[in-house]
Amino acid sequence: MSNEEQTIHDFDVALICEYFSTMERQGPGSEESTIKALSFIDNISENSKIVDLGCGTGAQTIVLAQNTVAGSITAIDLFPGFIDKLNDKIIKYNLQDRVQGIVGSMDNLDFQENELDLIWSEGAIYNIGFEKGLNYWNKFLKKGGYVAVSEASWFTEERPKEIFDFWNNAYPEIDTIANKIAQMQKAGYVVVASFILPDVCWTDNFFKPAVSAQKAFLEKYKGNKSVEEFINYEKCEASLYDKYKDYYGYVFYIGKKI
Ligand code: SAH
Repeated sequence: MSNEEQTIHDFDVALICEYFSTMERQGPGSEESTIKALSFIDNISENSKIVDLGCGTGAQTIVLAQNTVAGSITAIDLFPGFIDKLNDKIIKYNLQDRVQGIVGSMDNLDFQENELDLIWSEGAIYNIGFEKGLNYWNKFLKKGGYVAVSEASWFTEERPKEIFDFWNNAYPEIDTIANKIAQMQKAGYVVVASFILPDVCWTDNFFKPAVSAQKAFLEKYKGNKSVEEFINYEKCEASLYDKYKDYYGYVFYIGKKI
């Protein structure tokens, strides 16, 4: 299979998880962006129920906990290895009374209708699709509850073929900011804010730490063809970002259920 035809979905899930569990974040983001998104949310109190879907090893879960005065946070991820790492962090930061990590799927949630105050999801809703996720999650939120998600989005109406083809293969639901906002509104939310995540969320916080993680991983799996192909895919993603970052990036969308 050539690199061009391959998507991340074709690689061995266990290997991908092992690789990403060595990184602080599993997707682009930053503490500042999490705090900025949180600044648009005004309903958090003692009894609030917050969930963080596709939390990974929980970089943003800890930031959420440290920047909300109260309320419980349930962080959910499909992969037990990530949840183990998050649960270690919860103990390290002494957040056991407010935060718990559990294994589960964001498209099969075990909550009551109208139960949640805030649904958070950074760089993860793409796993089930932006529209599907926003529509499915809506019923779990109270009236006046919020959803805050970051999602890959086009910044321009048109874009070079090379980057269009890459994303069309990786995540065909990538769309313009205007269309994502319309989708959020159609799913029953007032879109209270959207903002583009700064470059550093990708460069300093994601691609730079990946360099040493990739080196260590290649050493550990010397001669393993599928590891080599996976790492090449990751490198290709980084160089495409460098070349085409004017055309796309991650955007935070914050919606309020009405
Ligand atoms: N929010 C984290 C991780 C983003 S990567 C961060 O920004 O660092 C996407 C995450 O979604 C991964 O941790 C992956 O394991 C998780 N994931 C994939 N499919 C999922 C599903 N169906 N339900 C819950 N989590 C899922």
